[in-house]
Amino acid sequence: MNLAAQTVQLLPLVDVVAQYQCLDWELDQAVLNVLAKGKYVLGPEVEQFEDAFAHYTGARHCIGTITGTAALHLVLRACGIGPGDEVIVPALTFFASASAVSHTGATPVFCDVEWETACLNVNHLAALITPRTAAIVAVHLYGRALDLQQLRIIADKHRLLLIEDCCQAHGARVSRRHVGTFGHAGVFSFYPGKNLGTCGEGGAIITNDTGLAERCRQLRDHGQIRRYHHAKLGYNYRMPTMQAAVLLAKLPYLDDWNTQRRRAAAFYAKALGDLPLWTPPYSDEDGHVWHLYTVRTPRRSELALWLNAQGSAYGLHYPLPLHLQPAYRHLGYRPRDLPVAERIARETCTLPLFPEITQTQQKKVIRALYGFFGREYDELLEKH
Ligand SMILES: *Cc1c(COP(=O)(O)O)cnc(C)c1O
Repeated sequence: MNLAAQTVQLLPLVDVVAQYQCLDWELDQAVLNVLAKGKYVLGPEVEQFEDAFAHYTGARHCIGTITGTAALHLVLRACGIGPGDEVIVPALTFFASASAVSHTGATPVFCDVEWETACLNVNHLAALITPRTAAIVAVHLYGRALDLQQLRIIADKHRLLLIEDCCQAHGARVSRRHVGTFGHAGVFSFYPGKNLGTCGEGGAIITNDTGLAERCRQLRDHGQIRRYHHAKLGYNYRMPTMQAAVLLAKLPYLDDWNTQRRRAAAFYAKALGDLPLWTPPYSDEDGHVWHLYTVRTPRRSELALWLNAQGSAYGLHYPLPLHLQPAYRHLGYRPRDLPVAERIARETCTLPLFPEITQTQQKKVIRALYGFFGREYDELLEKH
């Protein structure tokens, strides 16, 4: 048997190499330049990137970190969150949104999400706020910018910190204002598959609060005030220079990439609208940067297998909500406690989407979805 012939080339969920191929010369130069100069950690490119990202988002300060998880942990610590505190976190997000809270010693309190947006349902907040509540972590899930006005009013009324997890929403804006600037701070991840991704790990905090920015900077580097003098117990969460150099080279393309993502999402939305499948409400505004394109069906497991058989990768974001994770068993949640998050977790399937995806590639996915529902995809309808 010929094994090579058996291995079908799957259309990937994200194609980071395609992005490298578009920018290879620029990225090679950026990396080689750092290699030659030798200041490999917190080198000049880190500060340049921090300035560029602060300018891009409209925030007063940006602090580069080693990961998005570290950025969230760092900002929570710098805000004084710790043992005895409760922090409200949506039940449907990447694990780090909650684990960073737990690592401060505080307790995450999980909030159910809205069916339409898969983001925090503000109507549930009042019931979750106690005298111990210290902060809310709002997650702009899948790249969709949450409108934080209502959340900010609730947070201010109860004197809670509002931290935005923007790890999936680089470039998303609400009324032309960048996510991460509505709360007290915003955190970003530059993991390779994100809308702005580096060639390793990376993260950042943005804030308009100068005191908070200074505390973050200090805690990022072992709490040092000067070399080998430690004012506080800090961490090694420093950003490597090479990651900053790659991000500096890529940042000017972020808005264009997001436009390409939006175009691809519009193509899916139009083609899939007639199928008995939940598709995300499409809008061509910059409030959604389409980090992930997620569809929903009660037949999700079948659909996932079918997509693979038809040559397309798929993703599950996320198959198990956080309140039901084994790591949080001690918090005592039970199935059906947060029914919307649980249903989305059961029914969601992520389709391939990245800036460089071609219509031919998307049609392969669309044809597979039509086939799943026993329908014929008429490509001619797509021609305008
Ligand atoms: C990716 C991600 C993180 C963590 O970022 P890392 O850089 O991988 O540590 C946190 N929250 C959300 C919502 C994410 O998608």
